[in-house]
Amino acid sequence: MLACTGVRKVFGSTVVLDGLDLTVAEHEVVALIGASGSGKSTLLRCVNLLEDLDDGMIHLDGEHITDPRINPDLVRRKIGIVFQAYNLFPHLSVLDNITLAPVRVHKRSRSDARQQALSLLKRIGLEEKADAYPDRLSGGQQQRVAIVRALVNSPRLLLLDEVTSALDPELVGEVLDLIRDLKRDGMTMVLATHEMTFARHVADRVCFLDAGRILEQGPPEQVLDNPVEARTQQFLRRLA
Ligand code: ADP
Ligand code: MG
Repeated sequence: MLACTGVRKVFGSTVVLDGLDLTVAEHEVVALIGASGSGKSTLLRCVNLLEDLDDGMIHLDGEHITDPRINPDLVRRKIGIVFQAYNLFPHLSVLDNITLAPVRVHKRSRSDARQQALSLLKRIGLEEKADAYPDRLSGGQQQRVAIVRALVNSPRLLLLDEVTSALDPELVGEVLDLIRDLKRDGMTMVLATHEMTFARHVADRVCFLDAGRILEQGPPEQVLDNPVEARTQQFLRRLA
C-alpha cells in the first residue's frame, strides 16, 4: 500500500535519508526505531508531503504521490498524521479542532463533519468534551482527540510520530489502547517511537533506521530481542 523507494533527503550538508526503501502492506503496523536524529520524523514528513524529496519516490495505493504534478491536499486527505505534542489548536473547541480541516480544506459540509466528529469523540468516550477547549483536557485526552481528528477523512494510512513521548507515564496507556483499537480495526499505521515497549506491543514489524536507511527489520521479537546487526544491538543496549 505504501512504497518508499530510494528516498533521499538532505538538510544542508546532512544526509538524513540516504536511499531509504520501505514498503508497508495494507493493515500492517510498522514501527520505526533508531537513535534521535536518525530520520524517523523526516521520513514520516516525506510520506505526508511536508518535505520535498531530494531523490527517490513514494507510492500510495500505486499512485506516485511525490510526482510534482500531484495535488498534495488530495494526497494528505488519504493520510492522517499525529505529532508528539501541540497537536490541537488551543483557541478552538475540541469539536472545531476535528472539523476544521474537513470543512475548510476538504470542503465537506459542516453538518456532515460535525456528525462524524461526534461519533469519533463517542468512540473515545469524550463526547461530553466536544465544546471544551483543549486546555480543559488531560494530555492523554488531547492526544486521543488529535488521533481521532486524523481519522476524520477516513485516511488509508495513519502516521504517528512519538505520540506518547510528551505524556506523563500514567496517561500513556489510554493512548496505546486507542492505537491498539485502530490496529484491530485494520488501520494501516507507521509510527516512530523511542519506546520499545510501545513498538513491541503494537507493531507487526519493527524497522531500525541507521545512517539514513533501514538497517534491520522484522517482527518485534526478532529485531528487539535478537537483532542481527551490531548497530542495532548497540542501540538497544544503550536503552537497556
Ligand atoms: P528523528 O525523528 O529520528 O529524531 P529527525 O528526522 O527529526 O530524526 O531528524 C533527522 C536529522 O535531520 C537531524 O539531524 C535533524 O537535525 C535534521 N533535520 C530535521 N529537520 C530539519 C530541518 N527542517 N532543517 C534542517 N535539519 C533538519
Ligand atoms: Mg523525531
